[in-house]
Amino acid sequence: MEADKLKILYVTSEAVPFVKSGGLADVSGSLPQVIKELGHDIRVVLPEYKQISAEYKTELEHITDFETHVAWRRKYVGINKLQYQQVPFYFIDNKYYFDREFLYENLDKCEQFAFFARGVLEMLPEIDFKPDIIHCNDWQTAMINLFLYDNYRGYDFYKKIKTIYTIHNLGYQGQFERDVLEDILGVDSWHWIAGKIRHDNLINFMKTGIMYSDLITTVSETYAHEIKKPAYGEGLDYALRMRENDLYGIVNGIDYDEYNPATDKNIYQNYDPDSIHNKYENKLKLQKEMELPEAKEKPVLGFISRLVEQKGVPIILEILEELLEEDIQFIMLGTGNPEYEWAFRELAADYPDKMKANIKYDDALARKIYAGIDIFLMPSLYEPCGLSQLISMSYGTVPIVRETGGLNDTVHSYNENTGRGNGFSFSYYNAQDFLYTVKRALQFYENKEVWPTLVKRVMQEEFSWERSAHKYVEIYNKYL
Ligand code: ADP
Repeated sequence: MEADKLKILYVTSEAVPFVKSGGLADVSGSLPQVIKELGHDIRVVLPEYKQISAEYKTELEHITDFETHVAWRRKYVGINKLQYQQVPFYFIDNKYYFDREFLYENLDKCEQFAFFARGVLEMLPEIDFKPDIIHCNDWQTAMINLFLYDNYRGYDFYKKIKTIYTIHNLGYQGQFERDVLEDILGVDSWHWIAGKIRHDNLINFMKTGIMYSDLITTVSETYAHEIKKPAYGEGLDYALRMRENDLYGIVNGIDYDEYNPATDKNIYQNYDPDSIHNKYENKLKLQKEMELPEAKEKPVLGFISRLVEQKGVPIILEILEELLEEDIQFIMLGTGNPEYEWAFRELAADYPDKMKANIKYDDALARKIYAGIDIFLMPSLYEPCGLSQLISMSYGTVPIVRETGGLNDTVHSYNENTGRGNGFSFSYYNAQDFLYTVKRALQFYENKEVWPTLVKRVMQEEFSWERSAHKYVEIYNKYL
């Protein structure tokens, strides 16, 4: 029904296929496409980073340009557009702010994303798009909520726009000294005094998003509960408790056109649940590429991740040596904390026949690993949703996870009494429980009945975006 058609502006700092540093990009690449298929007018906006490949840059159409304020400065805003699949993507162009080596690690990131927020809001009348809802994601977009409230609501055009703020990871908050208030954000000091943008005597973008949006979501039901508690709240649990009536958890899906071993051109050989034997061709070729002994029967464990504490790297490193004493192979891919990078490199040098460390970001290799290994490790300290466990399942690779956040909502430990389950899990974050769980999984790997059933079952799991997209539309409507 036309009357139910919503107008949504989806604001993000990264989106597949244009620019990606983590799971947010996957979500931003998939969810809007599915909401569009449900019949809504959804458009995406993101910064026009240097990292966007020429293939897309040359397709951009210049729509308009204007100037905005970053406190007292006047700055150029170019609006370029590209239709990708079914969804229009707008890119905020300003070379000074976005032609950078790093997406987020810049000293002036407060200014970059304050500029972005104003550019996004002021773009709307210029492109003649008055959304019912602006959907913001993570701290980089949080100031939109405050600016809308503080500066723009007074104008008729913006009066009825509602905002939703999705937390993908509470661990990254965007915190800055108080003096950016007047000099960069250009908002009234009343907001600082009232405390809604302040935490630990710093301006906190994440808290601002939580306090100033109409509705808050996060990316799994378990994480929505966890973050209201001090242990997971990253200091902001009190703010989330204040807003708990407007806080919802909606689990992410994955794009099965993108992560499908039957069609993925990056893997060595395609396969589906009826041709799982071809998965083991991938295993052999992966072992060869990784310069490990080619051995079909040997369990190959893998880890693909940003190398940060959140992902459980400390407990992986704690058990790895003991694990490598077993008859297994281990392949990892990741970058991040240099200490962790070196620890993996050194272990790989000590166990050249058993372990390969790939210290880089490489999407094609990631897919080859998902396809070629047997067991995927994801012992996260916390995990808002996690996509890697879902991707691994799609490739018939059984995940071992810690029961937290989205891992708890998507992976259910194998139970030998009932025969149910789609992976292995442990509850408390510690190395011994993790090691015990890995060894338990390795026992079932040897079981010629259980393991093939598990592999087939995880491949048939479906965490598609459709169900989640319906839930988003349901709560959008609730707030209009
Ligand atoms: P997060 O967003 O916290 O990093 P997710 O599990 O939600 O974690 O998503 C991570 C995504 O990034 C997955 O698609 C994963 O395959 C990918 N990824 C992580 N590290 C690498 C890497 N070094 N090379 C290629 N892909 C990677």
